[in-house]
Amino acid sequence: MPDLADTRGRRMGRILKLPSACWPDTPVAELPGVGPVRGQRLARLGVVTVADLLLHLPRRYEDTRELVPLRELRAGSVQTSRVRVRDVRARHSPQRRMQLVEATLEDGGALVGAIWFNQPYIANQLSPGMEVLVSGKVISGLHGLTFQNPKFERVSADPRHVGRLAAVYPETEGVTSKYLRALVGRLLPVTEQMPDRLPPGVREAEGLMPIGEALRQVHLPDDDAAAAAARERLGFEELFLIQLAAERARRRRLGSAGVVVPYDVEVARAFSAGLPFRLTDGQRVAAHQVLADLAQPGPMNRLLQGDVGSGKTVVAAMAALMTFRAGFQCVVMAPTEILARQHYATLEALLAPHGLAPRLLLGSTGSRARREILEGLAAGHDPLVVGTHALIEDDVVLHDLGLVVVDEQHRFGVAQRQRLRLKARAMPNFLAMTATPIPRSLTLTLYGDVDVSELREMPPGRLPVETRVVAPHLRAEAYEFVRAQVGEGRQVFVICPLIEESDKLGVKSVTAEHRKLAEEVFPDLRVEMLHGRMPAREKAERMDRFASGGADLLVATSVVEVGVDVPNATVMIVEGAERFGLAQLHQLRGRVGRDRHRAFCLLFEDGIDEEGSRRLQAVATTQSGFDLAELDLELRGPGDVAGLRQHGLPEMRAADLLDFALGQRARAAAVAWLEEDPELTAYEPLREAMHGYGAVFDLD
Ligand code: ADP
Ligand code: MG
Repeated sequence: MPDLADTRGRRMGRILKLPSACWPDTPVAELPGVGPVRGQRLARLGVVTVADLLLHLPRRYEDTRELVPLRELRAGSVQTSRVRVRDVRARHSPQRRMQLVEATLEDGGALVGAIWFNQPYIANQLSPGMEVLVSGKVISGLHGLTFQNPKFERVSADPRHVGRLAAVYPETEGVTSKYLRALVGRLLPVTEQMPDRLPPGVREAEGLMPIGEALRQVHLPDDDAAAAAARERLGFEELFLIQLAAERARRRRLGSAGVVVPYDVEVARAFSAGLPFRLTDGQRVAAHQVLADLAQPGPMNRLLQGDVGSGKTVVAAMAALMTFRAGFQCVVMAPTEILARQHYATLEALLAPHGLAPRLLLGSTGSRARREILEGLAAGHDPLVVGTHALIEDDVVLHDLGLVVVDEQHRFGVAQRQRLRLKARAMPNFLAMTATPIPRSLTLTLYGDVDVSELREMPPGRLPVETRVVAPHLRAEAYEFVRAQVGEGRQVFVICPLIEESDKLGVKSVTAEHRKLAEEVFPDLRVEMLHGRMPAREKAERMDRFASGGADLLVATSVVEVGVDVPNATVMIVEGAERFGLAQLHQLRGRVGRDRHRAFCLLFEDGIDEEGSRRLQAVATTQSGFDLAELDLELRGPGDVAGLRQHGLPEMRAADLLDFALGQRARAAAVAWLEEDPELTAYEPLREAMHGYGAVFDLD
């Protein structure tokens, strides 16, 4: 295989023949021409078996199909030509201190040069008279037009690299796209052995190619249309399997015995009537959806999405009350002690008038109080407990759990949520709440078995938080503004980013910022601080002090991100705002403006590019978390959007999560399939494929 411009070209030549028994599960390290060292490098790309390799999909394609006759070449751009090698010379350049290989190339009567730097082996791969395709940047050199470090490949009926659409793969050190192309090219016959996880009937109905053809076309496409069709087919398969898993989980859940909480209209009315405000339409709809789920025999699995302050807790409180009246217990779990305390206070205020007094269980709860609470829960005397991870300790036993509410559920792993459910005799109803909404285009895939309620409007009278991006030179002015706000009796949050990887708790940035503000900028004001290294109790004390007006400014990391209520705080300053995600900035902004005072969010940036500026301006001009989530997705792509990775879904290699239409087709096909074949007995590969999805959607 002389066409490989690679020092290991000769070794790779031995891959010409496949070993006699090569299957999808053959380890690539056992293939001739790979070996243990390359094998380890491939493993870094997630490629261990031949099947992994065939599923290591290109990121894009390099298109060198347009051939330019030599006499039409122009200096300055990448071009491709079909040429004959006239001569090849290798030499050392003392001035440039490098090895040069130079060649003269011809077609018809035209001649151009080619030059390669520090790749002396190329001289052995080319010889006079050889016909090759070359592709590279053409420059105007001393001796006329010259290809600079061009890729090349000997002319053949079956080009792999040049003069075609050539796959560009995710690479790693020592594993180039060129190497992968050659390796994959040799293994294409194995595509015929790959199990097709899409049933033929589904495939045909959807007009999709068989797996073997899809893999061949994705690696070595005939043309753009074939490459796109191959990817669609592979993406459809991934989405179909996810939807199948989700739909099976849904069927299993709805078919299992759950805790039934009858919908008592009088209880709902009494609760609404007791509120000091009218429920928003969104709250009314969401509450209705939740209460209807509770009354169904199958356990609820619902997510309530809504911006900070949209009133999610009120909806959860109504569900807790209904559950209590039906004689079951309710658990409310929050990711931090601060939040748990706050939920406790809110729920206490909302529910105590209805005879439902919550208990609070935290990691820091003293052992005597803890024992008492555990006894009450086990005996069934305590109908509602609010807390943190402390709630999923093994010795927390519930007498008759009917409803689990988890706030900011993306902060909890699947396993932790599962453990909560296990505390029940019958499958409890499950309500997750989040102020970090996932865009609609993603809920279909990521929340396959979850019903979603949304609070898109804020309670009336809430003023939008005025948001400004503050450039470094305007800092002094911003501090004057802060001083004026404090002068009017208001309070201010200052959020610091995590500057170093090693300082995950933000101790450094918070301490430094606190010193600067307390000693230099506002020596006359009371500046409090809070960071991740402090014990929970101390954090709570400092937070309480600030919340009760004992400090003017609070310098903190984003621990205050979710939940914390300080109605008198009107300014949110975010230092190094460019380091935060859009959703996170929106969360932080939601910490202020919780009262009748006008509120402000100042995004301090330390020098940003145009992209960064667009992101921050988007936060300044967009008030809805739902809209920002969509925008974030557009700007960053689905891979980075908050929460995606925590879902524990098998890696999606081909599917475009933003392709809502494909997702819907896959969902419809999965639902239809299960109607006919609920137990998955009709097509073995499907059944097998489901093993990888069990943990994600299974409730039991
Ligand atoms: P979330 O949990 O979504 O952040 P909360 O349920 O904590 O929001 O509500 C935020 C604040 O708004 C609370 O003080 C709550 O009493 C108040 N609130 C909730 N619903 C309404 C409403 N419909 N009208 C007026 N105020 C409301
Ligand atoms: Mg809340």
